[in-house]
Amino acid sequence: MHRMIAFAQVCLLGIVLSFGWLPTNAASAGNGIQSPADGATVRGAVVVSGIAQDEQFAKWQLDLLPANQTDQVVFLSLSEQPLPTTGDLAVLDTTHFPDGDYKLRLRVVRRDGNYDEYYRDIVIANHVSPAATPPQPAANPVVRQPAVTRATRLGLPTHSPSGAPILYLTFDDGPNPVLTPQIVALLDRFDAKATFFVIGVHLNRSPAALQPVAENGHTIANHTWNHSSLVGLGPEGIASQLNRTADLVKETVGELLPAGSRMRYLRPPYGAVDDALINQAEDLGYQIVTWDIDPKDWQRPGAAAISSAVINRAFPGAIVVMHDGGGGSQQTVTALETILEALSKQGYVFHALP
Ligand SMILES: [Zn+2]
Repeated sequence: MHRMIAFAQVCLLGIVLSFGWLPTNAASAGNGIQSPADGATVRGAVVVSGIAQDEQFAKWQLDLLPANQTDQVVFLSLSEQPLPTTGDLAVLDTTHFPDGDYKLRLRVVRRDGNYDEYYRDIVIANHVSPAATPPQPAANPVVRQPAVTRATRLGLPTHSPSGAPILYLTFDDGPNPVLTPQIVALLDRFDAKATFFVIGVHLNRSPAALQPVAENGHTIANHTWNHSSLVGLGPEGIASQLNRTADLVKETVGELLPAGSRMRYLRPPYGAVDDALINQAEDLGYQIVTWDIDPKDWQRPGAAAISSAVINRAFPGAIVVMHDGGGGSQQTVTALETILEALSKQGYVFHALP
């Protein structure tokens, strides 16, 4: 009964809004998230599909918002393709998130900067057994990581020649005009090197933010053009996602990089990989790099929670993922300082992927 009333209200709202917008905004009819269904309980990898179009279309962006914490927006995907999108918008790996209530938010942005928002309520339940089936062991987030995450599997050393344990810090989803230069300045203070997995559209927006990364000898790596999941994208789609970003990096900071250098590492958005992607990445000259330690800084749990998650779980050769874009924030920067201080005292050195 409640659901019917709510549905009627939504319809009424929809009619009112449609009439209000019809003269100027007719093309937006039908926009929204189509799958998962409103109120759906989801687990594992979930394809989010929908429609994002407008006569004045500029781009769309998909986010996940923890219920009651709408300030903790998690960036999922975006597209700035000139053509409107219908179909799959992103693959949401729900295992990155605690069980609970969330909202998916699709923003359809027009060229004048205004946008419409469309919401879907979902419940993430990876650790709750479905009621109708016998109890199952809870999913273990450690087991989920592919074996290729380990530095040793990548042929990377776990210790420096002098025997110091190495930590591989990586930063995703940038560059960001505020956070990236701050992170680089901190790293330099501790004589630390790191790896930055950049998104092409973010680099396109903030090219100057990558400058200090290149100038200070950090490694620049590929995190796709627009943070689309690469799984199921097909050979041309994957090549385009990687090549566009590689070309733009070259164009933006190529003169600052060692002659003949090229991007060697790929971090697939959401850590989503399948055999086709592994094979094609190799053909295109990339090693896939995920991570060992994820302090979930994009959830903004507080700088102390981020830093202790890394410090407590650090081990020689560990790859740490943090964010200078996406959900990264000043919490990430503050936590990084604590991490560098504490682990330096423990004898760690910080290397970029070579
Ligand atoms: Zn990312």
